[in-house]
Amino acid sequence: MGAAIITVGDELLGGDRLDTNFTLLARRLGERGIQVALHTTVADDEVSIARALKSTQTVAEVVIVTGGLGPTADDVTRQGIARALGRGLEFNEAVGAHLSDRFSNLEAGHLELILKQAYAIEGAEIIMPNRGTAPGLILVDGDQTIYVLPGVPAELEEMLETTVLAHIANRTGPLTPLARRVLRTAGVPEAAVQMRIADLEDTYNAVRLGLLAHPGLVDVVVTAPESAARDFQKVVDEITARLIDALYGEGDATLAEAVGRLLAQRGKSVAVAESCTGGLLGELITDVAGSSSYFVGGVIAYANDAKARVLGVDADTLKEEGAVSEETARQMARGVRLCLKADIGVAITGVTGPEGGTQRAPVGTVHIRVLDESGETGVLIEQPGSRRQIRERAAHAALNQLRLRLLDT
Ligand code: ATP
Ligand code: MG
Repeated sequence: MGAAIITVGDELLGGDRLDTNFTLLARRLGERGIQVALHTTVADDEVSIARALKSTQTVAEVVIVTGGLGPTADDVTRQGIARALGRGLEFNEAVGAHLSDRFSNLEAGHLELILKQAYAIEGAEIIMPNRGTAPGLILVDGDQTIYVLPGVPAELEEMLETTVLAHIANRTGPLTPLARRVLRTAGVPEAAVQMRIADLEDTYNAVRLGLLAHPGLVDVVVTAPESAARDFQKVVDEITARLIDALYGEGDATLAEAVGRLLAQRGKSVAVAESCTGGLLGELITDVAGSSSYFVGGVIAYANDAKARVLGVDADTLKEEGAVSEETARQMARGVRLCLKADIGVAITGVTGPEGGTQRAPVGTVHIRVLDESGETGVLIEQPGSRRQIRERAAHAALNQLRLRLLDT
C-alpha cells in the first residue's frame, strides 16, 4: 500500500521555506512500513490543490495534505479538497463552539475570521486542535483515506502522533515495520560506491538501497520489510565486506567520532595545520566530547608568511612548488607535529575559490598529508565545487586520511 503527501504553500514553491513537513511525514510513515509513492507541492490555489488530490487516486490509499487550513484568505485547502471530492463545506457546531469558547475575548471581526476554520468538508471526521486553531479532517473517499492537516509543523506533528498514525494503522491492520540500517563511508566517490553494490538490489528484490552523499562522504541506506529480514542481513554483510576500507560507522556516528575512538585506543595525539579550511578540521575534531584526550591543538596558517614563520615551511618550497602543493602540505604537517609536540600531524592546503585558481592548482585542488614518526600518507583532491563544499570535503578527507593512517599502524 502506498501513501501520497501533498504539501500546500506558496512559500514552499518559492523556496522561502524548506518542506520539513514532508520529511517528517515520510519518515514517520516509513518507520511503519508505509512507502511514500508520490509527493507533490502545490500553490495556495483551489484548482491546483484539487488537481493534486485527483492525481493521487490510482497510486495511494493514504493521502496526507498539509498547509493552508488557516483563517486567512490565502488558505484555501478545504475548498480545494471539497472541490476534488465534489462535496460542500458545512459549519461544524462542535468546532465552532470550541473556537468561540477559546477566543471569547477577541473582537467580533477577528473571531469571525477564526470561525472560518469551523467549516469542515461534508462527511469529515474532525481532529480537534490542541495547540493551534485549525482542526484536522479525515475523509474517506472510495478506497482512499485523506487526512487534511495544518501546516504549522508543531500542530502537524501533534495530530500525527496523537491521532493520524493510529488511525492509519486501524484501517490497514497491523503494519510490518521496515528494517533500516545506515552504513557510513568516506573516501569513495558516490558513483564508485554505487558501482560496487548496485547488483545487490537485483539479487535481493525486497531490499532497497539508497545513497546519501555529503561532501567527501556517502551514506548507504539499506531498507527492507521485516518479512525479508534474512535477505536484509545478507545485503548488510555484503556491503560491509565490499566497502570495508571506506566504512567508518553506522547510524548517527560521525567520522570525527570514529577517528577519535581510534586515537584513544592507540593512545596517540594529533595536531592539525589548516590553510583553506580555516579551522573546520579542528572544529570537527573538537565537536566530539572527550577529544581533549587526544587533540593537542591546531594552527590556522592562511598566509604564506604564517606557513613559513609558525610551521617552518621552507621559503623556497613556497616559491617554487607553491602554497598549494604536496611538499608544502608535508612541511606543514611536520611543522605542526613538532611545534605542538603531537604524535601525528595533519595538514590541509588548497584552493577554495571562486578566485585564486592557477593552472597548476585550479579551484578545488587540495593537498592533504598525515605524518607520524614512522611515515606518512595523504591524498590529492581535484574536484570543483562551492567554497563550502570544497572546505567540507577537504576536512572530511583529512579525517579519513587520519583514520586510514591509524588503521595502518
Ligand atoms: P494556520 O492555522 O496557523 O494558518 P495553516 O494550516 O494554514 O496553519 P500554513 O498557513 O500553510 O498552515 O502554514 C503555517 C506555517 O507553517 C507557516 O509559517 C508555514 O511556512 C509553515 N509551513 C507550512 N507548510 C510547511 C511545510 N510543508 N514545511 C515546513 N513548514 C511549513
Ligand atoms: Mg500556507
